Amino acid sequence: MRRIAARTPPSEHARLRASGGTYEEMSGVAAVRQALYDEQGGICAYCEQLLSLPEAETGPGRKGRHKTKIEHFHPRHSKTSEDDACLRESGEAQLQHADTAWSNMLLCCHGGLDGANVESHCDTRKDGADICARFRNPKTTSVQRLATVEPDGRLVAASGMPHGAQDVIDGVLGLNNRGLVRGRHEFVRALRRRIAQKKQTHGPRWPTHRNGVADKLELEAQASRQEFPSVLLAAADRLRR
Ligand SMILES: [Zn+2]
Ligand SMILES: [Zn+2]
Repeated sequence: MRRIAARTPPSEHARLRASGGTYEEMSGVAAVRQALYDEQGGICAYCEQLLSLPEAETGPGRKGRHKTKIEHFHPRHSKTSEDDACLRESGEAQLQHADTAWSNMLLCCHGGLDGANVESHCDTRKDGADICARFRNPKTTSVQRLATVEPDGRLVAASGMPHGAQDVIDGVLGLNNRGLVRGRHEFVRALRRRIAQKKQTHGPRWPTHRNGVADKLELEAQASRQEFPSVLLAAADRLRR
């Protein structure tokens, strides 16, 4: 899981905030959802799976049936109020307005809603849980990598994350369910095959410039519409060791 570099919100967002618009009004504005999508490179803020394009979900007859969900890092109906951690993580000075704060809104996948046998994850599983004291908001934190991927596909909290972050990953966000671990593991194996092919072409001592290859993997991870970028980042880290 990576930090999300916040962009300037669309004018529709600013206008609704200024006129005291509700979150319900805001969530129906296509430009808001599209801007969140673009900001995150088209991947879920938590599990890093590819999201459907917002405009493909809002046609006639499909109103309200978004495959993407707008997640509030500090939850809309949190029982915690004016807590230091909530103020810090939401990025909003008045928590009663955190439901429309750009810094507090993330775009997430459907979280397993569609599949009968899929374990729930991301926003769907998190529901109203307040994780402000135990995790970091990817959009307000200065931590570049919140979690990293093990070679077996498991997601582990990065060093520097708060105590309890692993419990959030496993229990609250469900990011180590079988389907997600399998997906990441397949990505790790595909990456290994690519590297093995390079070795066949260039000789067993490839790569001679490990940092160059690691840099390339990082660039690839930064490219938008790239699923599971944390797999590439973890591979780059391992190459540099
Ligand atoms: Zn997700
Ligand atoms: Zn909170």
